[in-house]
Amino acid sequence: MNIHEYQAKELLQSYGVPVPTGGVAFNPTQARQVAEELGGSRWVVKAQIHAGGRGKAGGVKVVDALDEVKKAAEAMIGTRLVTHQTGPEGSLVQRVWIEEASPIRREFYLGFVIDRGTQRITVIASSEGGMDIEEVAKTSPDKIIREVIDPAIGLRDFQCRKVATAIGLKGKLMPQMVKLMKAIYRCLRDRDALQAEINPLAVVGSGGEDEKLMVLDAKFNFDDNALYRQKTIVEMRDLAEEDPKEVEATGHGLNYIALDGNIGCIVNGAGLAMASLDAITLHGGRPANFLDVGGGASPEKVTNACRIVLEDPNVRCILVNIFAGINRCDWIAKGLIQACDSLKIQVPLIVRLAGTNVEEGRKILAESGLSFITAENLDNAAAKAVAIVKEQQP
Ligand code: ADP
Ligand code: MG
Repeated sequence: MNIHEYQAKELLQSYGVPVPTGGVAFNPTQARQVAEELGGSRWVVKAQIHAGGRGKAGGVKVVDALDEVKKAAEAMIGTRLVTHQTGPEGSLVQRVWIEEASPIRREFYLGFVIDRGTQRITVIASSEGGMDIEEVAKTSPDKIIREVIDPAIGLRDFQCRKVATAIGLKGKLMPQMVKLMKAIYRCLRDRDALQAEINPLAVVGSGGEDEKLMVLDAKFNFDDNALYRQKTIVEMRDLAEEDPKEVEATGHGLNYIALDGNIGCIVNGAGLAMASLDAITLHGGRPANFLDVGGGASPEKVTNACRIVLEDPNVRCILVNIFAGINRCDWIAKGLIQACDSLKIQVPLIVRLAGTNVEEGRKILAESGLSFITAENLDNAAAKAVAIVKEQQP
């Protein structure tokens, strides 16, 4: 689960991390009001979407008049912001965050990620932070440093100092960095976050004694499997940022992830679902989704699965691949017939059943009078699905 920048900043602030003061607004008038209450003479209006790259796409505006705050908010709210992270359709901006503009001296990158290789949280930092970090990673990877955290002892001060030195922080910025890094790490662990990205972490000030570190942008990603014990994080969820099909699927106990192909998939078990996507791809097709109906797939669950898959207008046929262990093929078959009935399914259904009650399941399908295309195994089912889609193409 992701949260907005302003939510991440509020979260970090509660851990003592320095962030600019600001406020959220849902319309331009509110935006002006927020700026007025903040005071000062320069503000930054920032589109809140669950994607980065806003700066380069016009989603971050520095302004120096209250009316300009309103204008900037007007230009953002209600439009779809297209950044290099959103895809061509962009993301609808429904809220903006207004904060005091900081006099930036330098911008750094600071990330905490789980390194699957070492199975440890790893700090990634760079002196070349800001909007071109992807470019830095590509062209000068030596400018990116890593520090692995031992989970048994946590993040140590010397590790923070090592990172600080590597990115060129000196003097009183050094202890600030140690405190900041440890606070972010504590937040990450407490809240079951999978990732935290601060870009930029900035040195702000006029160049003299007032220099200090400040988090100017923050992104968090949380472990969905831990949300049951993270009430305050769940409260920050913005369903408008998520695929409505995925949200609906979660409500029905289904695991659905939208993809960009045209072969709908209904499978039991995440591993088999992944294998089905592979098989489709291997035969030259493109899956429209990942969908795991899980263990006890009642006929209702199967109907819901069909409905959600068909909400994607690109779907040209559905591949049903069930290897029933805890599941029962007769339930799946009944579910499919119910779905055909209630949803008036127009696209071909390719069905592969195996495992518990397979004979019963096949019989139910055969006697239904509906035209299911049956397949003997996964490979065969994928080949048939791909062939059907190819035939349909002009
Ligand atoms: P994104 O990563 O989506 O492009 P950021 O929040 O990182 O958005 O903003 C982009 C750039 O805008 C930052 O690298 C920084 O230079 C500038 N910026 C962001 N917030 C502020 C702020 N409060 N004061 C001054 N400049 C800012
Ligand atoms: Mg950023």
